[in-house]
Amino acid sequence: MELVDTHCHIQSIGLRTQGEAVTRQLWAKAGDLTADGVIRAAADAGVTRLICVGCDLADSQLAIDFVQKRDNCWATIGIHPHEAGEALVHGRILPQFAALAHENKVVAVGECGLDYYYEHSSKPDQRQVLEFQIALAIEADLPLIFHVRDAFDDFWPIFDACNTTKQPIRGVLHSFTDSAKNLDKALERNLHIGVNGIATFAKNLAQLEVYRRVPLQKLLLETDAPFLTPVPYRGTINEPKYIGEVAHFIARLRGESLQTLAKTTTDNARALFGL
Ligand SMILES: [Zn+2]
Repeated sequence: MELVDTHCHIQSIGLRTQGEAVTRQLWAKAGDLTADGVIRAAADAGVTRLICVGCDLADSQLAIDFVQKRDNCWATIGIHPHEAGEALVHGRILPQFAALAHENKVVAVGECGLDYYYEHSSKPDQRQVLEFQIALAIEADLPLIFHVRDAFDDFWPIFDACNTTKQPIRGVLHSFTDSAKNLDKALERNLHIGVNGIATFAKNLAQLEVYRRVPLQKLLLETDAPFLTPVPYRGTINEPKYIGEVAHFIARLRGESLQTLAKTTTDNARALFGL
């Protein structure tokens, strides 16, 4: 059985100064983990491909460097909505960021989007940086990884304004936990749905129903490691090797065989990101 972790942040494991700060500090709490040890453990658990997601300019550059010598890893470049304000402080940041889209093994733009739950950056800044990244992905012919939290009412108009029949936007709503209504809007727009450990500890029945309703052809698995550790490993740092717990849970919830779920989500990931 093969699985793809379509969303993890392992490029900052073991680093003291580089990489997005919150992520790096979380890895540091896990003690003596090494990036290659984490990748090996993932491979032993059937995770044959990993996508290392960037969250700001430096973190994206780090992800690109990280994947060059690791056959089963690919990178994305993204400015997380939390980092949008910071990215607009200096006029040189966005052009430098855009130049990374053409680097070797870059398979997507993101994570990008809107996060009105935390609102670490102002809403106008978040919207501007999202629009920039959608335009970049279209120009570079790359899919997008979207992070949208409590902000779909603003997200859909931006998406629709950039989406054309000539060059439709491709991508995934990562860590999807929203309503059936927004699931339908995503599917109408041909987006994929990324599911992670949150599903394993979701208490809300409507939420579980949403995971049941995602067409298998649109489903992607992810860990978002080091965040969002699935049951039964809550309380420890999340790693890509735990993605099997998500796969098991979702297969059982949907009444599908684990083999079918693993094969189809792997095919979906390979097709969307060109792995
Ligand atoms: Zn993430």
